[in-house]
Amino acid sequence: MPDEMSRRLILERDDGGARHFEDGVSDPSTSVIGILGTGDFSRSLARRLVASGYHVVVGSRTPTRFVALFPEEVEVTSQLEAANKADLIFVAVYPEHHSTLMDLKQALTGKTLVDVSNGLSINHKGPSNAELLADYFSGSFVVKGFNTVSAWTLQMGARDGGRQVFLCSNSQMAKNLVKSVCHRMGFIPVDMGLLSSSLEIENLPLYLFPSWRLPVFCMLLLFIFFYLYNFARDVLHPFIMKHKSAFYKMPIEVVNVTFPSVALVMLSLVYLPGLLAAVLQLWSGTKYNRFPNWLDRWLTSRKQLGLCSFLCAVLHAVYSLCLPLRKSARFNLINQAYKQVKMGVEDSWVDEDVWRMELYLSVGIMALGLLSLLAVTSLPSVAGTINWREFSFIQSTLGYCALFMATAHTLFYGWNRAFVLAQYRFCMPPTFVLVLILPIVVLLGRVALCLPCVAGRLRKIRRGWEGNRHIRFMLPAEDCRNGVEDVSN
Ligand code: NAP
Repeated sequence: MPDEMSRRLILERDDGGARHFEDGVSDPSTSVIGILGTGDFSRSLARRLVASGYHVVVGSRTPTRFVALFPEEVEVTSQLEAANKADLIFVAVYPEHHSTLMDLKQALTGKTLVDVSNGLSINHKGPSNAELLADYFSGSFVVKGFNTVSAWTLQMGARDGGRQVFLCSNSQMAKNLVKSVCHRMGFIPVDMGLLSSSLEIENLPLYLFPSWRLPVFCMLLLFIFFYLYNFARDVLHPFIMKHKSAFYKMPIEVVNVTFPSVALVMLSLVYLPGLLAAVLQLWSGTKYNRFPNWLDRWLTSRKQLGLCSFLCAVLHAVYSLCLPLRKSARFNLINQAYKQVKMGVEDSWVDEDVWRMELYLSVGIMALGLLSLLAVTSLPSVAGTINWREFSFIQSTLGYCALFMATAHTLFYGWNRAFVLAQYRFCMPPTFVLVLILPIVVLLGRVALCLPCVAGRLRKIRRGWEGNRHIRFMLPAEDCRNGVEDVSN
């Protein structure tokens, strides 16, 4: 690590240099931007900078070898010459090779270096690549940034207008300089503060759906459980008890009864943590106690759980539409018709079955429609256009409507089969009986929270009232008809 005091002095002196260059950056035609390295990132960056009006100098170990790969406006030269000519230099080489640039230390002193490098794996301990670069080049101002932008995005340009570039540096002047270049290239700079944030910025492109792990794991676990359960009941049972092969059901029929089971349980899991949080608040008589970590994590995963539920519901709808297309369905229909003709049955219309099916499909379609609405409003671009009350109305009120519809859909599917003994194959209750437990608990829990005595207490707690404090508490007029409510204990 360099001596902190000497670094500070250099920072003071050189910030002036950065300011000088910043004046030039406002007029790109007069400012020179350097890039060290001639790889994929360098080529895309050079093109974008040239398109934004900058004069670009690329420094290479072997300039003649790569000159043809750059637009003719770009000057491809030696690393030293590029370092001498430019005041703002992008270091587009791998972090392992930062140390090989030490010969340029003198030429880079007082200049702004943009470290665009990414690590190979997530690094929580540090130091970051940018911090190491700052140690190597203690006389330069290191800015971390552009590592979250791919070479492809640079080549295409920020067309969607929403490309963010995370920046951090210990020198505000150097950061401002890079910000203005960012703006000119059509990107949106996001100031992440000091260089100590560089570790976080370097880790950003390496995460693999961190917030999705738990919901997806949960979905897979439920899928495996319900698939095996349905397989045992619908395929194994007829095979063992009646020597009838129903293995053809495995790819579509069994999957199609598994998806709605997973969808409904996942949808219940979206609303269950909210109920648990309310129960905890009612029980402890305050909203100021922290929830246990597992509940906190569960609450923050609700969006992902909901989207997983939506995916399963959509797949169930598609599978259901495909059911009549199967050869097995056609053969079964023909066989049934033939049997009925043989038995002399002329009219196979069963009023109860017809009604059950009509209602079952109708509420199912409505549940899917509401789930689609919830999924669409969970998109940040859509959520950003509605206010908090509208968002909570859709996600909470309409969400509970969707849960109710999906529960009704399953109830219509099951009808009275829960009370038919033959349905308990291998002593296992029908799948819908298992599936209905959680949504019914959640819906009843919600109804219980709406009871005036419970809802009133919860409302007070959520506005700051605490059960174990002796305070006079006033609810707003619309929350309490008497205006002032003495809730002192
Ligand atoms: P690349 O195609 O392999 O280019 C790396 C360049 O580094 C080489 O062309 C080489 O240019 C130069 N270099 C300098 N010293 C070197 C040395 N000692 N050994 C080997 N090469 C040396 O890599 P890249 O994809 O452009 O990535 C460059 C940096 O950008 C990396 O740190 C990467 O993490 C970061 N990045 C890349 C992307 C992307 O989409 N590609 C996105 C974000 C960040 P000369 O031979 O001309 O000197």
